[in-house]
Amino acid sequence: MHEIINPATEEVVATVPASTRQDVDAAVVRAARAQTGWAALAPGDRARHLRRFAAAVDAHLEELALLEVREAGHPIGNARWEAGNARDLLDYAASGVERLTGSQIPVAGGLNVTFHEPLGVVAVIAPWNFPMPIAAWGLAPALAAGNAVLLKPAETTPLTALRLAELALEAGLPEGLFQVLPGDGPVAGDALVEHPGVAKVVFTGSTAVGKQIMAKCAAHVKRVTLELGGKSPNIVFADADVERAAAAAPGSFLDNTGQDCCARSRILVQRSVYDRFMELLEPAVRAFTVGDPTDPATRMGPLISAAHRERVRAYVREDAPAAIRGEAPAGKGFWYPATVLEAAPDDRTATEEIFGPVAVVIPFEDEAEAVRIANATDYGLSGSIWTRDVGRAIRVSRAVAAGNLSVNSHSSVRYWTPFGGFKRSGLGRELGPGALAAFTETKNVFISTEETL
Ligand code: NAD
Repeated sequence: MHEIINPATEEVVATVPASTRQDVDAAVVRAARAQTGWAALAPGDRARHLRRFAAAVDAHLEELALLEVREAGHPIGNARWEAGNARDLLDYAASGVERLTGSQIPVAGGLNVTFHEPLGVVAVIAPWNFPMPIAAWGLAPALAAGNAVLLKPAETTPLTALRLAELALEAGLPEGLFQVLPGDGPVAGDALVEHPGVAKVVFTGSTAVGKQIMAKCAAHVKRVTLELGGKSPNIVFADADVERAAAAAPGSFLDNTGQDCCARSRILVQRSVYDRFMELLEPAVRAFTVGDPTDPATRMGPLISAAHRERVRAYVREDAPAAIRGEAPAGKGFWYPATVLEAAPDDRTATEEIFGPVAVVIPFEDEAEAVRIANATDYGLSGSIWTRDVGRAIRVSRAVAAGNLSVNSHSSVRYWTPFGGFKRSGLGRELGPGALAAFTETKNVFISTEETL
């Protein structure tokens, strides 16, 4: 059993059973049975089911958002966006079912066509930082492509996942097609990874666990998509609109209390505008409202757990000199103040993912140095470039080794554009036009047109 704790109040909001290996075995059998009928449905029927599921999510948007507030401590405004993202992704995936076309390739003596065949049973292993969207990123396209899905939410945040599974049934999806297996990573998660009946694992979480999962998948030649950690740069050139860059910077590392794989937690600022940028950054950080997640004015809630707060604290001693240190509520809740540290590019705080409301700021001299520092990490998930020079924007975007870059913006995620990491930030892409195909095998069929003798 897992007690689910509200990170803002430390109250127990639910108790959820932990799935065993036997539960996983039984779930795979049920899923495989449901998948056969699901894959055989006419594409239009599959799409209709998914649209009904999206409509059910829409009808319960506020309820889902409030669950996310209670189990993850997210500000209500963010949680509403997250529930909306799950709904939109279901709609988007539904619109892809009839567009999942193969191709016809010219050959002599016959007809050569390709098909996208569903994989079968897919496991989605989700983290706690964005429980609903990340569950939906795997769930929606996998179902749309004709697969069954077994979702293993994080230990601390299973409630929205469990509610989504109920809504799927209410929307008429076949029993067993989408099941949630709450529980421990090394038990329920590992059982899914090891199960021969699971054809693909979509894992979102830490790089350390991602490496273990990839090794286990290799033993079965199991398909795997990995969405892992990040330590993304926010590069501010002297020719940028420095006011705008400074105003936008707090959101880019404080949203979701910094527990965001795309957080721009390394702020690189060209030396000639460094002092000006820091002058502007300080009030912008202080204006980032911290507190009660149920208040619509709140922009930053608590960290997920006491254990995670200890992990963040281990990086930043609270008496350590900080360039900027914000306020955090006292009393109950896993609060941590917004913190900006001046760092050298190879400091631990500048190279490792802290996953809290902590950024480092590093000066640079020129474009070449900015790119060198930006790439001096094992990660490569996202990043931002602030400049008014179009040529520089393009040059630096091409030179930074990361999967999701934005120029004069911090936006990383749109469900209709591809998302994923370079280097140790992951393997494969989610979302975007290729989302459904990632849950299929391509089959090539040659049909002879020779006359029979
Ligand atoms: P985590 O790796 O500890 O856990 C993620 C999930 O894996 C959980 O459901 C957990 O129960 C499960 N798990 C743990 N050990 C397992 C095992 N041995 N076998 C199978 N499953 C196991 O990560 P976390 O702390 O929940 O999430 C934070 C991390 O996720 C950060 O590093 C963050 O950057 C990353 N993340 C990446 C993305 C992305 O899209 N690239 C998005 C969100 C979060």
